Amino acid sequence: MSIDPGELVGWYESAQRDLPWRRPGVSAWQILVSEFMLQQTPVARVEPIWLAWIERWPTPSATAAAGPAEVLRAWGKLGYPRRAKRLHECAVVIASEYGDEVPRDVETLLTLPGIGAYTARAVACFAYSAGVPVVDTNVRRVVTRVLHGQADAPARARDLDDVAALLPDDETAPTFSAALMELGAVVCTARAPQCGICPLSRCRWRAAGYPAATVVKRVQRYAGTDRQVRGRLLDVLRDSSSPVTRAQLDVAWLTDTAQRDRALDSLLVDGLVEQTADGLFALAGEGDEAREGSAAIT
Ligand code: SF4
Repeated sequence: MSIDPGELVGWYESAQRDLPWRRPGVSAWQILVSEFMLQQTPVARVEPIWLAWIERWPTPSATAAAGPAEVLRAWGKLGYPRRAKRLHECAVVIASEYGDEVPRDVETLLTLPGIGAYTARAVACFAYSAGVPVVDTNVRRVVTRVLHGQADAPARARDLDDVAALLPDDETAPTFSAALMELGAVVCTARAPQCGICPLSRCRWRAAGYPAATVVKRVQRYAGTDRQVRGRLLDVLRDSSSPVTRAQLDVAWLTDTAQRDRALDSLLVDGLVEQTADGLFALAGEGDEAREGSAAIT
């Protein structure tokens, strides 16, 4: 069983979503920013933040020149704010060591802050048209269904090899990669695959009568988690132009004080929040050093 590139690429050319980071004139850096934001956050929430972000900071050097607190504020409610910090660090390295140009090859991309196996290949493929396998959750699901006849599967070491073997050996390889991802995002979804409009004529899972998943994926909840508490604490700091007291942070989460303490500790450890000498709390980069800097300027 394989995937017919003609079927998949043909479908993509007429059915792909009009996403702003796919439009002509979008730079490699701006594509990289979209990939950071799209890790674990849906397109609809990313789109407005990405548009505002690239207008404000269109290049790595512009992003690097912003303070980490500004970057955390602009990240807003995209979630997983460590990504914002890593994106800022990535911008600093690209601006200072790569002449403000995003590297083209996967090996160099993998050395940059915040860039892992998926993002390195996605940037090489979507920004520079490299014919490399790009494997995210959506791609893994489609390939598992079509090739292996299973509903879904956890990440496996062979995923990259599976997708590499499917890639056409010509200039359509980058489009094929984008199309595979798009198919998983909009047609072959986890809960409601739309086989009636699927462009793929051969699929093992469909042919086998949709056998049930052998591994049950746990649905990640958000309410009541440490992630939610961290988000609430960051909201207080984002909304304040100056450091806040512990009491101001405490009112953000009153249900479980031990959980609140743990969340605050983790934000301090992650370098997203800092404590001033007088015991106040601020977003990274807005603590004592920033205040001394602004006092020196005035
Ligand atoms: S036929 Fe159905 S299950 Fe198979 S790839 Fe298409 S949408 Fe997914």
